[in-house]
Amino acid sequence: MKINQEEALLAKDEKYLWHSMKPYSPDSTMVVEKASGAWITDHEGKKYLDGMAGLWCVNVGYGRTELAEAAYEQLKKLAYFPLTQSHEPAIKLAEKLNEWLEDDYVIFFSNSGSEANETAFKIARQYHQMKGDHQRYKIVSRYRSYHGNTLGSLAATGQAQRKYRYEPLAPGFIHVSPPDTYRFPEADTTPPQELQSVQQVDRTMTWELSETIAAFIMEPIITGGGILTPPQGYMKGVKEVCEKHGALLIVDEVICGFGRTGEPFGFMNYDVKPDIITMAKGITSAYLPLSATAVKREVYEAFKGSEEYDYFRHVNTFGGSPASCAVALKNLEIMEKEQLFSRSKQLGAELLKQFQDALNDHPLVGDVRGKGLLLGIELVKDKQTKEPLEVEKLNAVIASCKRDGLIIGKNGATVAGHNNVLTLSPPLNIAEEDLQFMYKTVVKAVENLK
Ligand code: PMP
Repeated sequence: MKINQEEALLAKDEKYLWHSMKPYSPDSTMVVEKASGAWITDHEGKKYLDGMAGLWCVNVGYGRTELAEAAYEQLKKLAYFPLTQSHEPAIKLAEKLNEWLEDDYVIFFSNSGSEANETAFKIARQYHQMKGDHQRYKIVSRYRSYHGNTLGSLAATGQAQRKYRYEPLAPGFIHVSPPDTYRFPEADTTPPQELQSVQQVDRTMTWELSETIAAFIMEPIITGGGILTPPQGYMKGVKEVCEKHGALLIVDEVICGFGRTGEPFGFMNYDVKPDIITMAKGITSAYLPLSATAVKREVYEAFKGSEEYDYFRHVNTFGGSPASCAVALKNLEIMEKEQLFSRSKQLGAELLKQFQDALNDHPLVGDVRGKGLLLGIELVKDKQTKEPLEVEKLNAVIASCKRDGLIIGKNGATVAGHNNVLTLSPPLNIAEEDLQFMYKTVVKAVENLK
C-alpha cells in the first residue's frame, strides 16, 4: 500500500514531536503545509477552512505577503537590538498602540501572552512598593480563565486540571467565580455593583484584606474557558471595586484584542479604562512572536524614585524584536485599511443570529453566544438540567466538521466534564461565503448528533 506524504509526515510527527495538550489522533491531528486567506492545506492538497484562525490569532488571514515583506525588509536592515536600548520599529509600534488604546500608556514588549501577564503581575507588585505600600502582593483572577503556562500566569489561570500536576505554583493568587449568564443568570442590574459576580469580587477583596491586594486580572470575555460573555455592567463594576480596594485592573486582551470582539480591544465594549493591558497573538496576526504589556502613565510614573528611576528589574532578550515590531505595525495598518473591527462586529452579529435561529431549539444546544467573530455553542445533555454533553459527542461534531473541510475548536472549564463549548474564531477578513460554509457545516454536524 502506498503511504501518502501526509501519512508519512504524521508517522514521524508521532515519533519525534511533543505536542501541547493532546496525543496524536487521526480525527484531529494534521500536518499543515501552507495556507492562504482563511484556508489551510495539508500535504495531500486537502483544504480546510480554519474556523479558529490557528489558535485564535491569525486575524488578517494567512499568506499576507505584506507581512512577510515587512519581516524580510526589517531583518535585512536591523535583525536585532535589545530593548535595554531602543530601535525605531519598537518606538513606532508603541506609539501606534497608544493611538489604538485611546489613552496614555507606556509599553513593555515580550514574546508571548504568558510573559506579558507575568510582566503585568511584577509591575503591579512593584508599583505598590514604589508607593511605599509593601503589603500588596495578591492577584485576584477568575475560575475558568486561562492566562498562560508559566508558574505565575498558570497560578492566575482558573482551570484546576491544567494546574494540579505542576503545583506548587507561584503563591499569592486568589480566584473568584466569573459571571455565567447561561448557568447562573443574574439580573443585569444597574448600578453594576449590584451584580452578584461583582459583589463576590468586592467581598473577596475585603475578606483577603484590601491592603494585601495588588491587582485583579480578567479577560473582557473568558475565551478558552468557554466564551463567557459578561453582563454589560460587570467589567465596569469590577473596575469600581478595584478602585475602592486600591487594586489595579489588568485586562488580558491576548485573544479579545485586535478586533476579535468587534472593537480594537475587548474592554472597549464595556466602557472601562484598565490600568494595565496585556496583548499577544493578534498583535502580529501570529506572523512572528510578540506580546506587549501596556501600562497607564500614572502607574509608570510611580517607578520614578526621588532621585532617579527605580528600575523595573525585568529583562526580556527577544521581547519587541525589530522584525516582530515591523510585522505588528504592518498588521495594524492592514486592520485599519480593511476596517476589520467593524467587519468583525457586523459579520459576527449576523452569524450569531443565524446560529441562534438555527440551533436555539435543538434539544442538545444550551446556549449560543459571543461577540464579534468569537462564538461559542454550549452543548448539553438536557436543556433543563444543563448537564454538559459528553466530550465524545463534542469530538464527533468536530470530527464531522473536519471531514467536511472545516476546523473548529472545543473549550470549557476542563473540570467535571465541562469541556462542552464549540468555539469559532475565524480570521477577521474571512469571505462571507466562507462564513456561510462554516455556519452550514457546524449546523449540519450538530443536527446529526444523536
Ligand atoms: N491569555 C490568554 C487569554 C490566552 O488565551 C493565552 C493563550 N491561549 C495566554 C494568555 C498565553 O499566551 P501564550 O500561549 O502566548 O503564552
